[in-house]
Amino acid sequence: MNILICNVGSTSLKYQLFAMDRGEQVIAAGGAERVGGRESGFYWTENGEKRRERLALPTHREAIERMLRQLPPEAAVDCVGFKVVHAKGVTGVQYLTDDVLAAMEAFNSVAPAHNPPYLAAIRQFRALMPGVPLIGSFETAFHAQMPPEARLYSIPWELSERYAIHRYGFHGASHEYMTEFAAEKLGRRDFRLVSCHLGGSGSLAAVRDCRSVDTSMGLSLQCGVMQNNRIGDIDPYIIFYLAEECGMTLPEIKTMLQTKSGLLGMSGVSNDLRDVEDAAAAGNERAQIALRAYTYGIKKYIGSYAAALGGLDAITFGGGIGRNSARVREQALSGLDFLGVELDLQKNWSPRGGDDVSRDGSPVRIYVVDTNEEIVVARKAAALLMGG
Ligand code: ADP
Repeated sequence: MNILICNVGSTSLKYQLFAMDRGEQVIAAGGAERVGGRESGFYWTENGEKRRERLALPTHREAIERMLRQLPPEAAVDCVGFKVVHAKGVTGVQYLTDDVLAAMEAFNSVAPAHNPPYLAAIRQFRALMPGVPLIGSFETAFHAQMPPEARLYSIPWELSERYAIHRYGFHGASHEYMTEFAAEKLGRRDFRLVSCHLGGSGSLAAVRDCRSVDTSMGLSLQCGVMQNNRIGDIDPYIIFYLAEECGMTLPEIKTMLQTKSGLLGMSGVSNDLRDVEDAAAAGNERAQIALRAYTYGIKKYIGSYAAALGGLDAITFGGGIGRNSARVREQALSGLDFLGVELDLQKNWSPRGGDDVSRDGSPVRIYVVDTNEEIVVARKAAALLMGG
């Protein structure tokens, strides 16, 4: 069985083709970048080497067509799987029927950077690959069993019910991968874990016995820890103050929260952590504060989840920042010895993916994980396909 997994961004497309019956081997991989822009291009891996070409890709349709030409002709695609983000009243792993697409559309306004590009791309896949099943694995699924005290907001109960307003949580594929990774390392499934997925977009999850019991993102992806250019937790009255007293319109505020906040907004340097780290090291004070605010936010969530879980057995770090930034891990974990979190500063500096970077004898194990969201989605799609 061959499963094509596609990640869709507003200007990008990444794909991997898994031969599930051949040890989940990746038999094709690549992607399109700057779709809709002047510098658009396509890249793929051939005989272990990365190749690229410049070509006009005005929309995702051309990117998908180019990808289809690159797939090995002998490998028939049995289904296309997507790591879809959000839908009203729908989660889990689903065939992408008209009803499911309508449920995604209903949440366009709370996932504006994710749902519209996925919907557009899925519709193109339908047209270009008729007869091939399209399956979505929702990023909210891992958190769907959170208890009500973690799941519900303290708005009037009727509003929560009528408009499906509650904490959903995201990055489910990554949190699930890291949970299974920790289970394998610890050799048991009854443990208390804080899973940190820290990328351009990031969230933490409190996991008990391999199930998410709380998470830092909510109805939308606009809360929790600071993001690359998106806001994290803020006082909701800031929005009213900006609208009522400072002359900003609601669309302006929404754009500011989505694209001009987070690391970029605080540092004024970049939405890329590497640039912020470099600027901080060169003495830029705002960059230093942004970095401290970012890691302080992570530390606060770890502390609150340790309280929620009644202690900790493990912490996992994944995502571009969680995997690669020793500084972020060090700052976020500093001073948490009282919880049994003892980082080995040497090991932390240059771990290989999968390494335990805690000190020998640390009560809490700390893992740096090469999270593989695509294989989680491919396995779920394969199970749905086989289960009918
Ligand atoms: P996305 O959420 O878009 O999938 P990624 O998981 O790829 O993003 O993470 C992107 C972030 O990871 C960027 O902020 C980038 O600066 C950061 N990052 C990648 N490599 C490193 C590194 N070696 N050191 C510090 N940060 C890194």
